[in-house]
Amino acid sequence: MIHPDRVRSLNHERSINGPVVYWMSRDQRVRHNWALLFAEQLSRKNSQPLFAVFNLVPSYPEASLRHYDFMLKGLMLVEKKLQALNIPFVILAGNPESELPRFIAKSKAGAIITDFSPLKIAKARKKKVLENTSVLFYEVDTHNIVPCFTASNKLEFSARTIRPKINSRLGTFLSSFPELTPQPAENRTDFKPVDWKRLYNTLRVNSDVEPVSWIDPGEEAAGKALKEFIDGKLNSYAKLWNDPNAHAVSALSPYLHFGQISAQHVAFEVRRSSAEQASKDAFLEELIVRRELAENYCHYNEHYDSLSGIRPWAKETLDRHRNDKRDYLYSPDDLEKASTHDPLWNAAQSELKNRAKMHGYLRMYWAKKILEWTPEPESAFDIALHLNDKYSLDGRDPNGFTGVAWSIGGVHDRPWPERPVFGKIRYMNYNGCVRKFNTDKYIRSQKNPGS
Ligand SMILES: Cc1cc2nc3c(=O)[nH]c(=O)nc-3n(C[C@H](O)[C@H](O)[C@H](O)COP(=O)(O)OP(=O)(O)OC[C@H]3O[C@@H](n4cnc5c(N)ncnc54)[C@H](O)[C@@H]3O)c2cc1C
Repeated sequence: MIHPDRVRSLNHERSINGPVVYWMSRDQRVRHNWALLFAEQLSRKNSQPLFAVFNLVPSYPEASLRHYDFMLKGLMLVEKKLQALNIPFVILAGNPESELPRFIAKSKAGAIITDFSPLKIAKARKKKVLENTSVLFYEVDTHNIVPCFTASNKLEFSARTIRPKINSRLGTFLSSFPELTPQPAENRTDFKPVDWKRLYNTLRVNSDVEPVSWIDPGEEAAGKALKEFIDGKLNSYAKLWNDPNAHAVSALSPYLHFGQISAQHVAFEVRRSSAEQASKDAFLEELIVRRELAENYCHYNEHYDSLSGIRPWAKETLDRHRNDKRDYLYSPDDLEKASTHDPLWNAAQSELKNRAKMHGYLRMYWAKKILEWTPEPESAFDIALHLNDKYSLDGRDPNGFTGVAWSIGGVHDRPWPERPVFGKIRYMNYNGCVRKFNTDKYIRSQKNPGS
């Protein structure tokens, strides 16, 4: 049922003498979740109770109230769904390094199952928890369709090199999901319901970046958004994906980022839909190949969050053009306030700040202009990543690190004809956008949101 290549044992423990704990971290959903299914299977096989635990850290780099609110509201629904399955849900507040081992000891748990993340912060936490517990510990990649550590064992060069590796395994991994079986009533121990108000009070985050109302959090809302996309916009995806005025994209990235929807479920439903094949192919290329290429980049390159991670040709060319004259120079503050000479860039930045999103095509333009208008490539990288992660609901994701590295550092791209400032990094300009879509319409839409 659960493919063994999706699961990695993180220590040498083999026996289970106590409850099975599913440590939900990145994949915050109940349905279509291989890690929870694996935990349930293990608990049943060993006749042990099953609990789910989430460890809420009071702050996270760049995360604001906007992100935490979306996440916590999604987790409230997780609690309800787990309750209906007789699975207690516990939220620990504090550092997982100490909280989880304490919980494991207190509940006399016999095994921990957690999900997979390629990011350093998650890997470091997992390592610490592992050092502080001696129970069976498994990691299950339930975020990717082809598990990241199975798709490839090395840093991939580009989409061209990872595509055949992923596509050749889709027959094995791109299946539907079994449903979870409700646990026996006695699995419901005396765990108290989560005190959400208290948890909100533990947060130490920037509340100036406010929640947004255009998107409802949680796995039900995610499923609804997927259905609406498949029934409506998917058919025109191939033709219109790069037109920000067309709203032809799925807007699923916040749900995917918080694991409120499974990429595998999305791909499965898109594949079996009756939309035109070219659109299905174009969408699945982004959802599967590009997204899983980003996971590969972060998993196998520990410098994914800076320009140190880019390839030698790109470092060399950016260095050679380091002292080129910039026609415009902006401070981080000018950029954050969307006060540049370029109305298109300002509109994109305003959408990011006010609506917590930016269309994929504009994201490339936006990041490349930051390279063009700042004194050196290193600060351009840092500013782009900071603004993306601070404001975008889907920020702090492997896709974001890789998107910035692609735009500014040529990652997964090839050298292009040389020009000032960019060197051989691919260039984008305003006129290119004008050729692709009605830029005036987009600019107007950000001056009068909702129009
Ligand atoms: C500078 C820059 C920053 C970015 N930051 C983020 C980020 O913080 N979080 C994030 O999820 N994506 C990021 N992306 C990738 C991409 O722009 C978004 O995933 C996409 O715009 C999300 O909108 P959507 O869900 O409507 O996408 P759709 O077009 O509907 O695509 C469906 C899904 O495919 C995946 N996808 C689409 N485009 C890409 C891509 N280029 N690379 C990898 N996966 C892709 C996403 O998971 C997306 O949700 C960034 C790209 C750039 C150039």
